[in-house]
Amino acid sequence: MKVISYPQLVMNEGGIQVQKGMNFAIKKSYSIVLMSTEKNAPYNDSMLEDGVIEYEGHDAPRNDSYNKKEVDQPIATKTGTLTENGKFMQAADNFKEGKREPALVKVYRKIRKGVWVDMGFYDLIDGFNKFDGKRNVFKFLLKPNTNEIDENPDYIDLLHNRQIPGEVQREVYERDKGECRICGSKDNLHFDHILPYSKGGSSKVATNIQLLCARHNLQKGAKFQ
Ligand SMILES: [Zn+2]
Repeated sequence: MKVISYPQLVMNEGGIQVQKGMNFAIKKSYSIVLMSTEKNAPYNDSMLEDGVIEYEGHDAPRNDSYNKKEVDQPIATKTGTLTENGKFMQAADNFKEGKREPALVKVYRKIRKGVWVDMGFYDLIDGFNKFDGKRNVFKFLLKPNTNEIDENPDYIDLLHNRQIPGEVQREVYERDKGECRICGSKDNLHFDHILPYSKGGSSKVATNIQLLCARHNLQKGAKFQ
């Protein structure tokens, strides 16, 4: 749950300037999605139980003859090529039919202008159509991929770091002015539970979350063991 700038995001991804929200198989072994919890965010993404993200599909391209927020989100273009919605749906369907492993998806969340959170890897486990009161949109379920953290003794706390809502991350980032609360460093920042989840601390309130640099985050982890 590292806080990064956009140039760091690009560097993470080997120089790819990730611009679109949905990028199926943009890397050899995984896809990338961007989500936003800015106040004017264009899509309705939400966090379900156990850190599962419900990610909304994307709209038809802007067009003079319709308002893209009023037409169904497209699965394919007029010529029949799958849109990003279509590619993610196909992968989710194939997984549900036992034809493939879940597609691996890297998630980045924008919490304010120029400030991103590396949310790590998720498994694409479901995709479906949902009527939002006005039109049909796609929803994709992304479940935290635990392969990298299964072996870690801090497993429970790591999993709960991924459940801090975007609004809470933004509030903490603004309150702590984008600096480590202990030393004021602006580099390598992480979100930290003041009282760890495993000791009863909440992930949902800003008063229990703070920004720490990598060094102070590690030091604190050691103290609690
Ligand atoms: Zn520090």
